[in-house]
Amino acid sequence: MICETVITPISDTKTTPTQSQEDRLLNTSRLNWVLWHTDPDYRERQSQANKKWREAHPSEMKAHSTKWRKEHPDERKAIMKRYYLKHRAAHERWHAKLKLEVLYHYSNGTMKCASCGYTNPDALTIDHVKGGGGKHRREIHRSGSSFYVWLRHNGYPAGYQVLCANCQMIKMKSEYLRKYQ
Ligand SMILES: [Zn+2]
Repeated sequence: MICETVITPISDTKTTPTQSQEDRLLNTSRLNWVLWHTDPDYRERQSQANKKWREAHPSEMKAHSTKWRKEHPDERKAIMKRYYLKHRAAHERWHAKLKLEVLYHYSNGTMKCASCGYTNPDALTIDHVKGGGGKHRREIHRSGSSFYVWLRHNGYPAGYQVLCANCQMIKMKSEYLRKYQ
C-alpha cells in the first residue's frame, strides 16, 4: 500500500495567520512530530484518527492523490520503485508458483510441452488449442500473470494446452500462413 501524507499548507487556510498564531502552529506541529516519533500510544491514536478521516472523505482523498501524483512525478516514480524493490522477491515467488499451478493443470500433471515434450517451465506457455489466444487475451484485458490469475479464477476453462515457446512460435506461423495464403 502506498501512503501519501496529507498536509494542508498554511497558505490554504482562509485567513492569513498572525505571527503569534503562526508560531503556535509551528510549535504544535513540532510537538506532534516529537510525539509521533516517541510516543507509540499517540502514534496509534493519531493513525486511527487519520484512517477514520480518510475513510470519511474518499473524494477529498482521491482528489488529493490525483493532484499530488501530477505535481510530484519524480517522487511518485521513486516511491513505486522502492515499493517494487521491497516486494519484488515475494512477487516473483508468487508468480512462479501461480505459473507452475497453471502449467500443472493444463499439462495434466506432466509439466511437458504437448507437442515436443520439452520440460523447462521457464519456456513453457499456455496455448489456445483453437488459436486466437492473443485476441482472447485482449478481450479479457489480461496478459502475463494476470492471464494465469484469470484462468485459475475461472476454474481452468477447457480449450488450453501447454506448449513450449518454440512449438508456440511454429504453430503461430502455420496459423498465419493458413490465414493469409
Ligand atoms: Zn514444444
